[in-house]
Amino acid sequence: MSHTADAAHIAELLESHLGRPHQKKKRTDPLAMLIGTLLSQNTNDLNSHRAYVELRRRFPTWKKTAEAPAAAIASAIKVGGMKNQKSQRIKALLRRVHDDYGTYRLRGIEKMRNDAVIALLTSYHGIGFKTAACVLLFSLRREVFPVDTHIHRICNRLGLVQTKNPVQTFEAMSSLVPKGKSYSFHTNLIRFGRTTCLAQRPQCGACPLYDECAFPDKERFANAKISTSIRRNSQFMLLDEI
Ligand code: SF4
Repeated sequence: MSHTADAAHIAELLESHLGRPHQKKKRTDPLAMLIGTLLSQNTNDLNSHRAYVELRRRFPTWKKTAEAPAAAIASAIKVGGMKNQKSQRIKALLRRVHDDYGTYRLRGIEKMRNDAVIALLTSYHGIGFKTAACVLLFSLRREVFPVDTHIHRICNRLGLVQTKNPVQTFEAMSSLVPKGKSYSFHTNLIRFGRTTCLAQRPQCGACPLYDECAFPDKERFANAKISTSIRRNSQFMLLDEI
């Protein structure tokens, strides 16, 4: 049976169950966002935020960060794990930005087209497609819907798309996300993926999207025990806090 889940309807249902998230007024510096996402690799949002705060406390400017020894950066960010690899990547990123712009600012990025921003940012080591899309949405306030592995999974389970990877989902969703809803839909899907549509144990029995969902195993999971160990702090979003 073909399924015709409607992205606008799903976005509305999520808003009625989880609320309508609003973006902060203050715009985040795109470079700060890139460094924040480098810190977020292989850890959760709370720990990466702690690492970010400590990095900024010890090195209040990107110039100071770039001039600091890698070991000192590693020490500042250790709470987020993989401190040596991340400190090297941060230094390499700052070096590249300085080489390109002569300063620690991605000058002119706000005037670039979305595809040019993606091409530029993904040319930096350690920066992937999803991060570039996050810079577009969170920092440059474009109508862009970033897709990580969780959003990719949920969109496929719901039947909004039939895709093989997050980049394909990003492309397929770009025409489906209702105008003006990129931030709300993205944020609510992340929260929904942390609390309900979990990768291994989706809580289909308690899911507000059950009737809309095309996931073939939803009935089986609906009969499974409801998990009592859902991750706490599921509301905390690193990219809103940088
Ligand atoms: S019914 Fe299950 S698989 Fe479908 S969206 Fe809800 S939790 Fe996810």
